[in-house]
Amino acid sequence: MGKKERFYVDVMALHPQVTGSCNIITTRFPDGRKSIFVTDCGLFQGREEEDYNKELFFKPENIKFSLVTHGHTDHIGRLPLMVRKGYDNPILTTRDTQSIMAVSLKDSAKVLKSEAKKRKDNKPIYTDIDVANTMQLVKSCEFEHKIHMNENVDVTFFNNGHLYGAALVLVEIHYPGEENINILFTGDYKQDNIFLDLKPLPQWLYDLPLTIVSESTYGYVDSSEIKKNFSDNVIECIRNGGTVVIPVFALGRMQEILYLLKQLQDESYLPYEIPIYVDGDLGIEYTNMCKTGVFNVKEEMKDFMPPKVVYVDKTMRNSILQDKDSCKIIVTTSGMGSFGPAQAYIPAYIDNENALIHFTGYTVEGTLGRRLKDTPKGEIVEIRGVGYRRLAKVEYTSEFSAHAKADELIEFLQKFNHLNLVLLNHGEQPVKEMFAKRVMDEVNPKNVGILGRQYFFRINPYGLVASKPTRFI
Ligand SMILES: [Zn+2]
Ligand SMILES: [Zn+2]
Repeated sequence: MGKKERFYVDVMALHPQVTGSCNIITTRFPDGRKSIFVTDCGLFQGREEEDYNKELFFKPENIKFSLVTHGHTDHIGRLPLMVRKGYDNPILTTRDTQSIMAVSLKDSAKVLKSEAKKRKDNKPIYTDIDVANTMQLVKSCEFEHKIHMNENVDVTFFNNGHLYGAALVLVEIHYPGEENINILFTGDYKQDNIFLDLKPLPQWLYDLPLTIVSESTYGYVDSSEIKKNFSDNVIECIRNGGTVVIPVFALGRMQEILYLLKQLQDESYLPYEIPIYVDGDLGIEYTNMCKTGVFNVKEEMKDFMPPKVVYVDKTMRNSILQDKDSCKIIVTTSGMGSFGPAQAYIPAYIDNENALIHFTGYTVEGTLGRRLKDTPKGEIVEIRGVGYRRLAKVEYTSEFSAHAKADELIEFLQKFNHLNLVLLNHGEQPVKEMFAKRVMDEVNPKNVGILGRQYFFRINPYGLVASKPTRFI
């Protein structure tokens, strides 16, 4: 092995699909030292994949530090498991992500506890205590402020429109006498966000010799192909006197949908007297955080709520569920329908011809949202062991997606002037393959790789060295 090959980094994806994000990065220094860090450590959200959540496939006590791109559960949800299994080092992220983590991880512990109860083994993968221990390790960082992790590593967080607090994370790894190995993690990426004031990325970042680990969730579709059908569908259902059930993600999507409903009211498409109910404790908590300025949102966007929104508690939920024939809008968690009060509202309205169930984001395989997608009108769908005839209108839209579409990702990647390697992550396998070709043709980096579970990529300051089978332990 030549001198240059003694300084390299191995990039692995523990789970390179759309859920359970976790990258393990091992640096080998010329003096023989080895250093490992992880970027994100998320939970799986497909039901039948629950077992995946138990195993980490690496030794947490060997990890030197952790970086968190943003606060979605599929990126942070297993950090407490890491801590429970012996991780005791800094977790770096932005201030808003830290605020989100405090709320979100507590909720995950609650969900895991109740799931464990239902399984009758009473063994959640972590508890509130692990969450508290995790939060003790979190250090929040300013955007564009270079943090010296240690003598070999600098970390910088950059603006990312995916979510409040979301970041692109740059890791610069150096060693005396060697060129730097620079890796940029996109986490989930979107170029803009109606709630956020985003600073453009600095030119020096665009000029850096770089490996980018990029998401590719919507790598199969261009922004011009996205149909905007949500407003029309909602307006039509309300005009016919029906009920609209809108499953939303608690974080980001709920606030975005409420803002849109307010706009529809202000533009007289929706009568103010049609009740808008908001259900889901976590969503309500995030909505309040957004409203009261806990998150760094634009001043003019703090007033995003329709004036007469009603927050629903358990008792009120029961009476709403009984009043099936009245015209109303219910905005409820969870976004894929498998958790939260959506589990009550969907079965209540699925056999109602006058109702519209409108999903507003990506639905992972195995979730109720995806199952409904695969159930034609009039057919039976099974929800928690009970069969229901699907008579309601069930609609999906990608228009609110917090992810850049293929053309937008390409445009983003094209801005970098010195791309050694683009590694595609966070996408379904066929999508990653399809998108890889496009990146090769339209971005033309030195190399493109597809992160998989069975192999990893070795890179040095000049780009790709090898791709090898993964051995986690
Ligand atoms: Zn995300
Ligand atoms: Zn994600």
